[in-house]
Amino acid sequence: MPLKKNIRQLLFWFLAFTLFVAVYQNLKGVERERQIPYSEFKAKLRDKQITKVSVSQDLIKGELKEGDKSVVFKTIPMSDPKLIEDLEASGVTNFSAEADRSWIATLLLNIGWIVVFIFLWWFLFMRQAQMGGKQAMSFGKSKAKQQDLKKQKVTFKDVAGCDETKEELKDIVDYLKNPKKYQTLGGELPKGVLLYGAPGTGKTLLARAVAGEAGVPFFTASGSEFVEMFVGVGASRVRDLFERAKKSAPAIIFLDELDAVGRSRFAGIGGGHDEREQTLNQMLVELDGFESKEGIILIGATNRPDVLDTALLRPGRFDRRINVPVPDIKGRLEILTVHAKKVKLTVDTDLSVIARHTPGFTGADLANIVNEAAIIAAKKEQKSVDLKDLEEAIEKNIAGPQRKSRIISESEKRVVAYHEAGHTLVAKSLPGCDPVHKVTIIPRGPALGYTLQMPLEDKYLTSRTEIMNRLCVLLGGRAAEEIAIGEITTGAHDDLAKVTNYAQKMVLEFGMSDKIGQLSLKKEDSEVFLGRDIMRQAGYSNETARIVDEEIKRIVTECYVKTKDALNKNRKALDAMAARLIETEVIEAVEIDSIMAANAAA
Ligand code: ADP
Ligand code: MG
Ligand code: ZN
Repeated sequence: MPLKKNIRQLLFWFLAFTLFVAVYQNLKGVERERQIPYSEFKAKLRDKQITKVSVSQDLIKGELKEGDKSVVFKTIPMSDPKLIEDLEASGVTNFSAEADRSWIATLLLNIGWIVVFIFLWWFLFMRQAQMGGKQAMSFGKSKAKQQDLKKQKVTFKDVAGCDETKEELKDIVDYLKNPKKYQTLGGELPKGVLLYGAPGTGKTLLARAVAGEAGVPFFTASGSEFVEMFVGVGASRVRDLFERAKKSAPAIIFLDELDAVGRSRFAGIGGGHDEREQTLNQMLVELDGFESKEGIILIGATNRPDVLDTALLRPGRFDRRINVPVPDIKGRLEILTVHAKKVKLTVDTDLSVIARHTPGFTGADLANIVNEAAIIAAKKEQKSVDLKDLEEAIEKNIAGPQRKSRIISESEKRVVAYHEAGHTLVAKSLPGCDPVHKVTIIPRGPALGYTLQMPLEDKYLTSRTEIMNRLCVLLGGRAAEEIAIGEITTGAHDDLAKVTNYAQKMVLEFGMSDKIGQLSLKKEDSEVFLGRDIMRQAGYSNETARIVDEEIKRIVTECYVKTKDALNKNRKALDAMAARLIETEVIEAVEIDSIMAANAAA
């Protein structure tokens, strides 16, 4: 770090200089000033050898003749009321008194040593402060770093495989490049953009690319920097950060790991965290306090959008949310291509093989693999990185402790593909199901894949048939595993929880079971309380309870039979869809339709 080095150098020269001055003055004193006893001074005075005298409380200085030389002398005065008389008598015309040497004079005389001491103390203290990771000297100042744009410019070219995300961010770049265009039209741009997605998907990289593309100053601060030990420090840092950015507008403020500050304020039992709450409040104040017209765009990033305080997400704050997805097979190839440029690849290396073998890997994982492969190749003293090195790097990465849960093996991929294809197929083959938008086997959060269904319109009423169909779609995953793989897995546990929940509601709340009839047996306890289950008392007899259980079971079983039936009828489409999923990992609505059409049930 150049700054630290500079300070050290400065310190060194300062110390050297003071030491030099101190030594020089001492030497000079020794050489030129002769200390004489008072008696000698009086004697010389009588002999009229003294030419010049200056008197102060505890020192007499002057010049005396020695032959034809003039020597500076000093002597410690004694109580001598006749001194002035004697001076006059000896014909010294040139005498004066000096003001008492006050404590200030003493201080000034010793200043060299005081400075040395202060610097020593400061030096030790700073070092300790740095080692402790806290700069005690600059509490309230934002630690936000302003990125040097010329030094390492990141652009959209460096971010691969998330075209949709980039597309959304391009508006912002355009605005920052040319704010006038938007200002004259009076349009309101989003003030805050929230990038969310799994760790390592490139959120930080994207934010830097936006700054690089727009060519504006970029202030970054990480959420955790705002949460300090002392209440109020974080808040003042936030204030400072926004002030600095405003001064250099148009600019980007990037708040990384926003969830460290922005966690919901009421989450958790036993009250909140005062400091965090103050910081968050200050952030809200600042967010409301500037207009996007001022040319400042706020970009936030988080892995956990679900825990963010809703106040942060309100219109006028982080009002645009952009997902940064885990890349699909095509995206992975692009990312690999970007990073492979930094290493020397063997000419015929087919990166698409690597892309195919890395489902669930994020951009950071892939960058890591390329790097790892280069190290492996170097160890083997190869001239370039080949496919084998990359494969070895993948293995190393999968075996690594923290990735294990997220990365899927080939055989698991097959199971997940059939599972998701099952959901999709059931949704397509039963009438009245919400259209399937997209199905993917790229893991996201705890799910290994998902089928995205979106209703065509907002619905407030749901019919019994619709709920039953929904249950069938949910059961489609498990049924497909059973039919195609011949073995069921734990992958369906979340589906089953939903199924059970729906079926319970049908019987207990919606009056949709013929045996129970039009009764709502649910107790009013939708609030979440600790010990809710203990408190809950069934408002019905044991006999009814038995029937309720039977009815729930009957509904689910019925649905499961229906689901398996639908899948068996569409076996060809199921296989085709699963195969396609294994190949591309994502299938969009259009392609789903064409697969269905090409493999229509006999
Ligand atoms: P996040 O902030 O989402 O956790 P980062 O932006 O810090 O992830 O990504 C870490 C590294 O991974 C980046 O520096 C880059 O090398 C690599 N990376 C991640 N996503 C991509 C991508 N889409 N394209 C190229 N490199 C990527
Ligand atoms: Mg990050
Ligand atoms: Zn499922």
